[in-house]
Amino acid sequence: MRVRVDPERCQGHTLCWMHAPKVFELSETDGHSSAVQEEVPDDQQDQVVEAVRSCPERAISVF
Ligand code: SF4
Repeated sequence: MRVRVDPERCQGHTLCWMHAPKVFELSETDGHSSAVQEEVPDDQQDQVVEAVRSCPERAISVF
């Protein structure tokens, strides 16, 4: 599984990071999220699915 955050959609709600802090990192300047790495480790996939569900901006895509 791979994950990506659309920087145009992300509004920095931090919900994704609360679900998967090993997968997402937040900008210190604006709180916007990005993936630490595109490839999701096997033991983080459930957390990423929860993050996708939680994002109110639908900014996270998995593929
Ligand atoms: S939950 Fe969505 S909008 Fe909020 S920081 Fe994460 S990707 Fe951005």
